[in-house]
Amino acid sequence: MATRLQIALYWGSACGGCDVAVLDTNEFVLSLGDVADVRFWPIAVDGKYHDVEAMADGELDLALYSGAVRNSENEEVAKLLRRKSRVLVALGSCACQGGIVALANMTTHDEILEASYLDNPTLEPGSRALPRPETTIDGVVLRIPQFYRRVFTLAAIVPVDYYVPGCPPAPAHLEAALRGAATGTLPPPGSVLGALDRALCEDCPRLRGEKKIDRFRRPFEIIPTPDRCLLEQGIVCAGFATRSGCGARCPAGGVPCRGCYGPPPNVIDQGAKFVAGLGSMIDARDPAGIDRVLDEVPDIAGYAYRFGVAASLLQRSMKS
Ligand code: SF4
Ligand code: SF4
Repeated sequence: MATRLQIALYWGSACGGCDVAVLDTNEFVLSLGDVADVRFWPIAVDGKYHDVEAMADGELDLALYSGAVRNSENEEVAKLLRRKSRVLVALGSCACQGGIVALANMTTHDEILEASYLDNPTLEPGSRALPRPETTIDGVVLRIPQFYRRVFTLAAIVPVDYYVPGCPPAPAHLEAALRGAATGTLPPPGSVLGALDRALCEDCPRLRGEKKIDRFRRPFEIIPTPDRCLLEQGIVCAGFATRSGCGARCPAGGVPCRGCYGPPPNVIDQGAKFVAGLGSMIDARDPAGIDRVLDEVPDIAGYAYRFGVAASLLQRSMKS
C-alpha cells in the first residue's frame, strides 16, 4: 500500500478559478510533491481518463472535483473519480452549489443553444449549426459530450465526502483539506471545510446599525463610508444570507459580498433567505414604493441565486 498520498484533481463545468486557487497556495503546492503523488490533474499533469480507469477502486486517497456537472463528460468523470477515490471533495461554489454555471438553469436548454450557435452576432452569415453528440465522417463515429438540459451540483450525481465552498475557495481552506487528508485529521464526512457556523455579517469588520434602505446604489455610484455596513449604504451585500469562513474578505476590502460561500447553517435556500431579508429592510410600505426600490436591482433573481440555483429549492426555472 502506498504511503504517499495519492491524489487527483479535476475541473468540470467551471471557469478554472479553483485550479488557480490551488496554485495560490504558493509554497504549499510546490511542496505537495514531497508528500503526494498527483495521479491525475488535467491542467497540470499529462494523464488520460484511461489512466484513471486502470486504477483499482479506492486507489486514490483524495480527489478534488471543481465545477458543476453540465454534460455527459462531467458526469462520467465524477462517477469515475468517486469509484477510484476514498475521499471525494466538492471544491468551490460550482461543485458545491452549482455556481455561476447553474444560472443557466434559469433559462432553457434550447434558448442557450439558440443564443450560442444560431443567433450569435459573432457567427458568419450562413454558419448556423447546432452541435451534434454523434457524427459519422468517412465511416468513423466521432462523439462529443452531450449537453444536459440543466446543471447539477456534484452531490446530485455522486456521494460527496467534503465541501470546500468559495468562488474561488480561500487557498488556506484548500491547503487545510489537503493537509487533513495527508495527516488523517479530516473532520467527520459531510463537513463543510473552512466554513464557520454563522453568517458572514458576524465576521464583517464594518459597523452594523438599523437597516432601512430607501434606494439601492451600484458600487460605482457612491464612495461608501469606510467603516459602515455596505448594505445600510444601499449597496446590495449578501453577507447576511451567506456562510462565514472566508474572513469577510470582500466587504473588508470595500466590495459587497456576493454569497459565494453558500447559505449559513440551517438555511435551506440561500436565495429565498436573501430575498426575504432584503424585503424586510426596504423602507417603503406600499407595493409601488417597494417596487420602486427593487427596480434599482436589475436581475434580483440572478443576484439572490448567483451561486446556488442548482442547490436551491427551485433548481431550475419553470420555463425549463
Ligand atoms: S457590509 Fe455586508 S457583510 Fe458586512 S455587515 Fe453589512 S451586509 Fe453584512
Ligand atoms: S465575502 Fe462573500 S463573496 Fe467574498 S469571498 Fe466571502 S463569501 Fe465569497
